[in-house]
Amino acid sequence: MDLNPTDCPFCGSKRFRTRIRAKQKEIRVCDDCGLGCRVPRTSEDEIREYYRTAYYAGHNLVFDEKRREVFRKDFDVIAAGMKPGRVLDIGCGMGHFLAFAREKGWQGTGIEPGEYAVHAAREQFGLDVRAATVEELARNGERFDLITLWNVLDHLLEPHSVVIQAAAALAPGGRLAVRSQNYAVRVFLHRVGMGFNIEFMKRNFGMYHESVFTVRGFRRIMHDAGLAHVRLRNSALAADVRGMTFTPRLIVACEAAAKASYLATLGTALLSPSLIILGEKPLLP
Ligand SMILES: [Zn+2]
Repeated sequence: MDLNPTDCPFCGSKRFRTRIRAKQKEIRVCDDCGLGCRVPRTSEDEIREYYRTAYYAGHNLVFDEKRREVFRKDFDVIAAGMKPGRVLDIGCGMGHFLAFAREKGWQGTGIEPGEYAVHAAREQFGLDVRAATVEELARNGERFDLITLWNVLDHLLEPHSVVIQAAAALAPGGRLAVRSQNYAVRVFLHRVGMGFNIEFMKRNFGMYHESVFTVRGFRRIMHDAGLAHVRLRNSALAADVRGMTFTPRLIVACEAAAKASYLATLGTALLSPSLIILGEKPLLP
């Protein structure tokens, strides 16, 4: 993998431009496919080791009620119109979402590269969590009615291939649900933070993770995976991000504003800092 790509690493386009520059890193986004990444890129070995060992050492250790609130609100959107069935959570961490889904009547399976998290999910919640890849599950013939990726896609070096593998593990008529960062809104908030020197905004809306997606980029990776009826929705706001806690009243106000502009523009304006992207596997191939 080229750690400093000048052409788009996803589609090969030359129209791959720097959009944000901070310290030694840049965010480059492709004008053609709408996907982008942080440059210089992290090596595959480095990223594998990071998620295997370090990621759960700190902030994800404790079950967070505020996180549960995001699950509760977003799950109503994600599972709308579905009967409980089999759900697979990719990058499930310690299994907080699967434990939540189980309360809603879903039968959950999780996959997770972090050894500590796999152990904790089994011990703490008694969940079926495996140190496997979605590709392995699909190859073994396992099929799921719903597959979720909660803030996982933007951490991956090759997000499009994981979406394709996830689509392969969906039962016909099954649904893929992705929660991810809303690039356009975050670029805007980052620029406001830079302009007014607001440390909290500069820090939280700056360099993202490994991969970024415009709305077009999200649609493209879902369509490339053969998913139909692709749609994007505003996601709920997390109550705390690094360095700032939002009051419940502020969250309600922000979510109401995002919903109102979504409705007023017939689904065009997506103003939440995080999005939900949904797609269905066709009943007939
Ligand atoms: Zn591209």
